[in-house]
Amino acid sequence: MTKKTNKKSANAKQIEPADTSEFLAKISKILSASLDYKKTLTNAANALVPQMADWCSVSMLSEDDEIEQVTIAHVDPKKVAWAKKINKRMPADMSSPTGLPNVLRTGISELYSTITDEMLVASSKRKSELDLLRKLHLSSVMIVPLSVQNLVIGAISFVSTSNHRNYTEADLAIAEEIASRVALAIHNSYIFTESQKALTLRDEFISIASHELKTPITSLKMYGQIVHQQLSEQGIDKTILTTLSKMNGQIDRLTLLVNDMLNVSKIQLGKLEFNEDSFDLGKMVRDTVEVVQASAPKHRIMIEGKVSKRVWGDKDRISQVLINLLTNAIKYSPHEYKINISLTEKKNGLAEVKVQDYGIGIDSEQLGKIFNRFYRAVGPDEKTFPGLGIGLYISHEIIRRHGGTLEVASSKGAGSTFSFTIPFSKPKNRP
Ligand code: ADP
Repeated sequence: MTKKTNKKSANAKQIEPADTSEFLAKISKILSASLDYKKTLTNAANALVPQMADWCSVSMLSEDDEIEQVTIAHVDPKKVAWAKKINKRMPADMSSPTGLPNVLRTGISELYSTITDEMLVASSKRKSELDLLRKLHLSSVMIVPLSVQNLVIGAISFVSTSNHRNYTEADLAIAEEIASRVALAIHNSYIFTESQKALTLRDEFISIASHELKTPITSLKMYGQIVHQQLSEQGIDKTILTTLSKMNGQIDRLTLLVNDMLNVSKIQLGKLEFNEDSFDLGKMVRDTVEVVQASAPKHRIMIEGKVSKRVWGDKDRISQVLINLLTNAIKYSPHEYKINISLTEKKNGLAEVKVQDYGIGIDSEQLGKIFNRFYRAVGPDEKTFPGLGIGLYISHEIIRRHGGTLEVASSKGAGSTFSFTIPFSKPKNRP
């Protein structure tokens, strides 16, 4: 970047190189403290005063090329409002051949080591403006662009009003270094804000789409059942009824998927509700196994152990967790058909349910992430397993909200054991 400079002042004072790196490190720390860019710019401008300037302002270019002064810091905090007022009274004219508009247009820094009265006269359109400029006692000014990937997005103005400080080329180099760090911070905050917006849009979409899908699926299921009943009453060919039953099974799968998507949105919005009471865990497990077993005839689900005391929680939600663990155990064990469930009464007021399979297992590096939303630990060989990566996220949240834990022990190729705990009585401190 080339610089446009006027004559340097004889009493120009440079920042000591030893202090410079410490100062730059301090600025970088401030810049990385927040991802809110306006807050970051305000904190940075405040930190630049008084070391780098008596007043410092940051201006940004809007999409329609308007200049917006985002923040201003003054060595005398009482004068900040006054400085803002001046900016309003004398807004920068984008066609101006020098100063802030020129820096924003060209991306080239400007350094005015000494501000002379002739310069003030030349840059004022009216007498009132000149009077105002004279009252500011400007002695030296630097304006440096804020550029991101060769695009000028704004500029920082450093103003000295004390006669003993006249900016030099060395000061300008520091100002440009600061500007490049500020620009990077703005860019990071922009990327962060945009990705947050995209995530919010995704979550809203999932929420709306799952709500919209629910109604036609419920109708499909109902009409399917009516057709099945009417045809069986007419004594129709068994193969047609079998096809209808298969269709019904697929509708059930679709219902589960849509419900899972709805549950994810509810968790995100803190709206997942529980209908709690005490219930017989062993019976719930047996009933759930019966349903899952019917849809997976190849696999053999065995239950061992028992829990004699009743547990506390939402029976349907806990059953939903068990269905998730069992369908995963079945899905990820395409060649091993044994699945064991064990029930244990723990000493710490909790009952434990373990689901063990002998399937493909999970890589140890992935184990910590499988409870994350949309995380799937499937490598290129396992891409064929269908899934959305939300079942374990929902299950983990359900168990956590009951005051229990959901854990996994697994290694690649050696099967997996998922275990969850739930309390015997209503926990005093709910998570
Ligand atoms: P998905 O719909 O992908 O099965 P889940 O949230 O249920 O989503 O599981 C997350 C990931 O954890 C899966 O993509 C899979 O990689 C892994 N996983 C879950 N259960 C098992 C299991 N029993 N055996 C092997 N991997 C499993």
